[in-house]
Amino acid sequence: FTQDGRRYFTGIIRDITRRKHLEEQLLQAQKMESVGRLAGGIAHDFNNQLGIILFDVDLMLEALSEQDPLREDLLKVRKVLLRSSNLTRQLLVFSRRQPMEMQPVNLNYQIGELQRMLDRLLGEDIEVQVDLGEDLSTLRADGGSIDQVLINLAINARDAMPEGGSLVIQLRNAVIDAEYCKRHSQARPGPYVRVCVSDTGTGMDKEIVPQIFEPFFTTKEVGKGTGLGLSVVYGIVQVHEGWITVESWVGRGTRFEIYLPALVSTMSEEMSAMPAPGALEKAGRQERILLVEDEAEFRERIERLLVRHGYQVEICSTSAEAREACEQLEGGFDLIISDVVLPDGRGHELVAELAENAPQLRVLLITGYADDVMDQSLPLLQKPFAVADLLEKVRQLLP
Ligand code: ADP
Ligand code: MG
Repeated sequence: FTQDGRRYFTGIIRDITRRKHLEEQLLQAQKMESVGRLAGGIAHDFNNQLGIILFDVDLMLEALSEQDPLREDLLKVRKVLLRSSNLTRQLLVFSRRQPMEMQPVNLNYQIGELQRMLDRLLGEDIEVQVDLGEDLSTLRADGGSIDQVLINLAINARDAMPEGGSLVIQLRNAVIDAEYCKRHSQARPGPYVRVCVSDTGTGMDKEIVPQIFEPFFTTKEVGKGTGLGLSVVYGIVQVHEGWITVESWVGRGTRFEIYLPALVSTMSEEMSAMPAPGALEKAGRQERILLVEDEAEFRERIERLLVRHGYQVEICSTSAEAREACEQLEGGFDLIISDVVLPDGRGHELVAELAENAPQLRVLLITGYADDVMDQSLPLLQKPFAVADLLEKVRQLLP
């Protein structure tokens, strides 16, 4: 009030829309983080158990004759195991414990094969259109995980189009500027590849959209939805240092945009990223392998397998024992296979140290999950693996 009895106001108006928006995004990220840790812990142990069973089944299959009536049952068990391990893998990806093999990938090329699979997956009533990008930039990405992202999005699109419709996957180069980053907390300026996945389905209500990336959020009936699809997508995109946005219109459809950082100039790297086809029929010639694994059950199985396939195997369960074994063996080992987590140290440190003193020594790491500090350039096998995976890796290393 002033002396003349009039009322005056001073005020500052600040637009906090953006702050609110960022707070929400942060909260979301934190929630995902904690659920992820929980799920990842369970999935990791579970995965190890699956690995042991899968190994046993493979060993039994190897031992049985071609006509044995038990063969078919075992193959069924094996199928279920692989399906379960796919589920735990999704959980591990989601919790970022799944080691990714980051390689230069050009989505223009990778998507061709996927499209055939999507056509089959989505059925006749849904038209799948792929719109490739001109001069599309290469990404540093884990090819399998990117497939997983597209498959998960496509399955959701299918579920949203029970009467049919169309799914468009569009690839484009995109340059992100500061203006865009103001609106998306996770965005960073720079060159990106934008993957757009849109459908002509039911769309979503405004209230649903903010929840869809939450683990176990589903609007589908029991048995149909797990609520994990989009959380996995979210996790994978994060690992690739990208982000995902969604827009939806009720009755008209939904559009997801994924931004993944582009690699700058990598033509030659792209060529070397092609995996060499493994020659499965070649067997061991008594090469000497040192196996370092503290889990006795697992160690014994691998040993049995390798011996059966013509390798000489020495086993130990700690880094200290491994060092001693290396010192004692004249001529040295040809290959050391080591678990990443050992009771007295880290497998990748151990193998690096041993390889330094023995240039001919090949190394192979086995892991239950990726460790941030791990040198991704070493050959790596992820649990659970099939017998054939292990043999193929060993053969590649000991040609
Ligand atoms: P799920 O598919 O198992 O339900 P997701 O995490 O994949 O789990 O998706 C969560 C929810 O998001 C779905 O239940 C659905 O309500 C919604 N949703 C996802 N994608 C779409 C889409 N393309 N169209 C409409 N709704 C969608
Ligand atoms: Mg889904």
